[in-house]
Amino acid sequence: MEQPIAVTRQSFDDWMVPVYAPADFILVRGEGSQVWDQQGKSYIDFAGGIAVNALGHAHPVVTAALVEQAGKLWHLGNGYTNEPVLRLAKLLIDATFAEKVFFCNSGAEANEAALKLARKRALDNGNHSKNQIVAFNNAFHGRTLFTVSAGGQPKYSKDFAPLPGGITHTPFNDLAAAAEVINDNTCAVIVEPIQGEGGVLPADAAFLQGLRELCDRHDALLIFDEVQTGMGRTGDLYGYMQYGVVPDVLTTAKALGCGFPIGAMLTTDELAKTLSVGTHGTTYGGNPLATAVAGAVFSVINTPEVLEGVKQRHQWFLDGLNKINQQYPIFSEIRGGGLLIGCQLTKDYAGKAKQITQLANEEGVIALIAGPDVVRFTPSLVIPEQDVKEGLARFARAVARICS
Ligand SMILES: *Cc1c(COP(=O)(O)O)cnc(C)c1O
Repeated sequence: MEQPIAVTRQSFDDWMVPVYAPADFILVRGEGSQVWDQQGKSYIDFAGGIAVNALGHAHPVVTAALVEQAGKLWHLGNGYTNEPVLRLAKLLIDATFAEKVFFCNSGAEANEAALKLARKRALDNGNHSKNQIVAFNNAFHGRTLFTVSAGGQPKYSKDFAPLPGGITHTPFNDLAAAAEVINDNTCAVIVEPIQGEGGVLPADAAFLQGLRELCDRHDALLIFDEVQTGMGRTGDLYGYMQYGVVPDVLTTAKALGCGFPIGAMLTTDELAKTLSVGTHGTTYGGNPLATAVAGAVFSVINTPEVLEGVKQRHQWFLDGLNKINQQYPIFSEIRGGGLLIGCQLTKDYAGKAKQITQLANEEGVIALIAGPDVVRFTPSLVIPEQDVKEGLARFARAVARICS
């Protein structure tokens, strides 16, 4: 065997398109909620690959499903269906409002499908002016041109003009403002039950209920982007279940594959008819390897033990973070739901979220940011109490350093 190519963090700068600025170490192995770098240093993982590794690293049930399917059948193309995809569809349908599922490979693609469905449905109904999409400031829906335009952070879209038209943004959690722009020309409203990338901002129940009513009144589809809130992250299988507001279309990805790329759009029988044969698709969508993994992920996450455990772990984090904040008051608010937690930095520490996560790395814990002023935690849903304690102790040392 030839020696593998020697790689260091410098190799990234030498060889990679520079759209990312990764940390200055390279992780090589993970188990549960711990990961190790090339030098053997250990880190507690409070990021979970940005809300993806919902069962941590190398979960035995998920790994077994992957290995088993890898020896059987990886891919067929959508001219042929397969067993794992049908089983996963049935699991998602039985557990949610949905009656039909479309599979793809990422969150952006799931949202792309949802928005295309909404436009086509209006057109199929003969309504040529019903093409307007309402979305919210600071929202994040992905990086394809359509979804990045639906997102409410112009810094991500402005360089790619001309952008798809017919998208209006309005302030999140402001029902009166939404009511002003939602009308009979609106084909869809897309919203995250908790804005993730935008700063871990939960929607008010009244806001989502109000959007539901406005959508009903104007025959617009209510699309819940649950790519980040989905699959147990909030302590329910999907966030909408906590709000008691049922969307017409729900998109899910991230935790669905726990690291194996997969996304899905869930919808009703009636709406699914819009995307008739040949109108949409993707090569890998619903391939047996991805859906076998997601089926195993689903069977572990959709259990009372795991979902109840998320609520318990939420409390462990809150208690620990509040304690840190008592000693070093750097957070003005700690918010979010389940294991999607955001810590808003006080004015004195504004803009320092990235620096805090870098110090956290040095102390041996991985945390995320959600914009320049929010430190975000999206750990494994099954992270052991010992790892929460140890990770928070390491995080406290990072906070102590930024305060000194
Ligand atoms: C991550 C994310 C997306 C995009 O998912 P990709 O898999 O990166 O395309 C879309 N919406 C929300 C809410 C997300 O958090």
